[in-house]
Amino acid sequence: PSPVHVVGGGLAGSEAAWQIAGAGVPVILHEMRPERGTDAHKTGDLAELVCSNSFRSDDAEGNAVGVLHAEMRLAGSLIMEAADAHQVPAGGALAVDREGFAAAVTGALQAHPLIEIRREEVSGLPPEDWDSVILATGPLTSPALAEAMRGLTGEDALAFFDAIAPIVHFDSIDLDTAWFQSRYDKAGPGGTGADYLNCPMDKEQYEAFVDALIAGDKTEFKDWEASTPYFDGCLPIEVMAARGRETLRHGPMKPVGLTNPHNPDVKAYAIVQLRQDNALGTLYNMVGFQTKLKYGAQVGVFRMIPGLENAEFARLGGLHRNTFLNSPKLLDETLRLKADPRLRFAGQITGCEGYVESASIGLLTGRLAAAERLGLPLAPPPVTTATGALLSHITGGHLADESGSGPRSFQPMNVNFGLFPPVEIVKPEDVKRFRGKEKARAKKQALSRRALADFSAWLAGAATRSAAE
Ligand code: FAD
Repeated sequence: PSPVHVVGGGLAGSEAAWQIAGAGVPVILHEMRPERGTDAHKTGDLAELVCSNSFRSDDAEGNAVGVLHAEMRLAGSLIMEAADAHQVPAGGALAVDREGFAAAVTGALQAHPLIEIRREEVSGLPPEDWDSVILATGPLTSPALAEAMRGLTGEDALAFFDAIAPIVHFDSIDLDTAWFQSRYDKAGPGGTGADYLNCPMDKEQYEAFVDALIAGDKTEFKDWEASTPYFDGCLPIEVMAARGRETLRHGPMKPVGLTNPHNPDVKAYAIVQLRQDNALGTLYNMVGFQTKLKYGAQVGVFRMIPGLENAEFARLGGLHRNTFLNSPKLLDETLRLKADPRLRFAGQITGCEGYVESASIGLLTGRLAAAERLGLPLAPPPVTTATGALLSHITGGHLADESGSGPRSFQPMNVNFGLFPPVEIVKPEDVKRFRGKEKARAKKQALSRRALADFSAWLAGAATRSAAE
């Protein structure tokens, strides 16, 4: 077969190249480093880790990223093999010796007879005669290629910053305090007029909250982030708070058009709104709450909000330089660009977040591209698997922002159990046996076991089909 071109030899591109070659299809991998650098990479190695050396939890029964590790190992992942071989002690987490890890990935790809590595920047749209391409150029895609992608996908289809509002697990929100209502009971397209969860504050609570936001520990913008003029219109919440004590009450926390059914006679002084974040309704995001507060500070400050005292966060807020596509709109379910299906995307540029997630989407995209090249089109793994749950976030699990107000609703995300369809853990008559933490643990275990069983079945199905051909 003729080669698949992979652009970008980071976490996703390296894994994609490995999977394609493993299926017997030749690969040309184009990596611009060391010829051309990025603002974060320091070496010419493939799969360089730009910041922490952690692949996070390795618990395949209690943590969604641990389940993703396990699925990738089942699929013969090079990234996981190199990580396991270069592990350093880190409790329940999988942390690696970054140089050893990157050298192992680079060495394995260089040694593979079906992989050719070209050290060059792809500075525009891939030439017409590359009939199968995976673009895996990451959050720091080179400006020339990013510009070309913007030309192809449209002005607002490629973002240069993520403005991440925290996401809360629905079942940790106190519904004796919060209530469902849309502002002025407006039902947008597909809405009911009660699409938001509202958390009320009195004056004293508001003042204390503003003080805590201003005092909270913050992450500084890097020089190169501060000089990128793309984040107008999505100011961090603490910056708004610092601009004036009333700014938030007139912005994302305005209390108008809402009546608290728990306390109808008292008008709230300010209101925090949460909007459903996934089709399953298991996750809610805090509207307009993008922030540069450090993670520890966020948990403390946001739990001051009435109704969120016990909030569990699926993701904390952030604001970073990050190039990513509006994937639910642009990509089909096999990660091809609808407007030009010879182009597939992989890694963080698709709207996943993290080393492991980027590599897992590289693994999936590589398998899909190889199967297509071999004339054995492959269905993606089911949403019950960690890989499939992450894919559903990327290609459409998220709700579109119907209101058209506020920042775009599609934002990069780590894998988490909120993306998995719920599972029945016990027969109704056994329910009383499970309480609190024990119940949460049983639920995660059931989700994890189902994921691994379904992923194994998916791999086996694909293998049987290719053997039959
Ligand atoms: P990358 O690993 O960045 O790979 C993309 C590759 O494409 C790079 O090698 C780049 O040189 C190359 N490239 C770019 N443009 C071109 C071009 N035009 N032609 C040819 N090659 C090109 N995640 C975590 O889990 N933990 C962290 O601690 C963490 N820290 C981060 C810190 C920063 C500053 C950033 C920006 C991101 C961080 N991430 C972190 C998020 C993310 O997981 C990583 O960026 C991850 O490397 C993404 O994988 P990727 O394969 O999509 O992109």
